[in-house]
Amino acid sequence: MNMQDSQIIIIGGGLIGLVSAINLQRSGMKVVIINDQQHPASWGNAGHIAIEQVTPLSNKYNALTGYKRLFPFGGALDIGWNFPKLWLPWFAKYLKSSFSKKSVQEGEEALKRILSYAVVAWHNLLVYLGQQDLLITKGHYVIYHNKQKASQGSQVWLNADIGNAKVRPMDYQTLDNISNHLSTYPVQGLCFEHTGQIKNISRLINVCKDYFIQQGGQYYDDHVISLSPENKKIKITLKNYQAFTHEKVLICAGARSGILLKGMGEYFPVIAERGYHIEWENDGSYNLPPLVFEDHSFIVTCFEKRLRLASFVEFTKFDAQPDVRKWEKLEHYAKKFGLSQKSEFQRWFGSRPTMPDYRPVIGKSTKNPGLFYAFGHQHLGLTLAAITGEIVTDIVLNKTSSLSISAFRPNRF
Ligand SMILES: Cc1cc2nc3c(=O)[nH]c(=O)nc-3n(C[C@H](O)[C@H](O)[C@H](O)COP(=O)(O)OP(=O)(O)OC[C@H]3O[C@@H](n4cnc5c(N)ncnc54)[C@H](O)[C@@H]3O)c2cc1C
Repeated sequence: MNMQDSQIIIIGGGLIGLVSAINLQRSGMKVVIINDQQHPASWGNAGHIAIEQVTPLSNKYNALTGYKRLFPFGGALDIGWNFPKLWLPWFAKYLKSSFSKKSVQEGEEALKRILSYAVVAWHNLLVYLGQQDLLITKGHYVIYHNKQKASQGSQVWLNADIGNAKVRPMDYQTLDNISNHLSTYPVQGLCFEHTGQIKNISRLINVCKDYFIQQGGQYYDDHVISLSPENKKIKITLKNYQAFTHEKVLICAGARSGILLKGMGEYFPVIAERGYHIEWENDGSYNLPPLVFEDHSFIVTCFEKRLRLASFVEFTKFDAQPDVRKWEKLEHYAKKFGLSQKSEFQRWFGSRPTMPDYRPVIGKSTKNPGLFYAFGHQHLGLTLAAITGEIVTDIVLNKTSSLSISAFRPNRF
């Protein structure tokens, strides 16, 4: 099959693009993926199936207290002050969404609904792929080392709406067990249930990609430089200026989806919200579920024999140079908390695709027939990939989805 023979072209082969491709294939379609692999979030995330995060991060509390979390004050939030044209318009929309009760409520209801299907969608997909061991649903832990932050932070979680997840104060036995893997003793903690993790992100992505190709899917390592409308079709121009038109295109280009869609005359304020991680081999004894150090704003996840420590929210230019101070801080934490280390730290950064109201865009264009979208999954793209693949397949096939997704409508900005 070449591009012209396919029935749909997906731009972007991260988790959202790959899982959507498999679902479209299952419905009988011939699918092509074009992916250029530039700082994709899918390969470097924390692996946490975070169904507890039902409150959109654009809310009044976060907007009013964000300054306390700024990087220069020791926090995990950083802003590319040199690029005001980039983040100021996004930030204005973020504030508008955060202070609109209606928007926060609509976002919360919609996230709660879609998150309630996230685990079952992953389970079903992984059973279908014969890889069900990749999904672990043994919950996750949140710990604190600062007494004051512990009592405030844990009260917030214990009183919060966390959808289908459950939370309870951590017992001493669990605190003891965690402290066996650290050089410090946390003062308090929380145990979450019904949340989970993906056992090995690289394996998950390889399994999805291999399956897609085995089933006849075409995967092109290429860069789409532009999209434009042409005779009711979509013209795709690749980096060597080879161009062709197609009737159906699904955009899963993560943080760069907005730039691509400008050529189609469509406006999406999606920003690159960068995160950093370090990863290393541990001594093999670490066996904890995802562990959030809430008063230090980072998460440690064990991917089989490797540990990954992830953090930071950096609003900057997609291709700005990485900030080495962030990796140094993560390395400092790994040592400070005594996480066992049997290899050098490997450094990574990548971009979460984030809309100002912290809801994904899932739907079809009202201006350009044949143009579909699935991007903007912010901090929840791993969690929501499997259910997004199901929903977007229904949309492409013109079927009514059983899940109400109007809050993810493309034309809301
Ligand atoms: C540090 C960090 C930790 C995270 N932790 C979690 C977590 O624990 N749980 C969770 O649920 N989520 C987490 N996330 C968020 C999650 O990783 C993302 O939401 C998700 O990966 C987005 O997937 P995607 O496929 O939309 O985008 P991406 O992974 O960015 O994939 C998009 C793909 O499209 C390609 N592309 C873009 N433009 C073009 C073009 N013009 N031509 C060709 N190809 C193109 C890119 O190169 C890329 O490969 C985390 C993110 C980060 C950064």
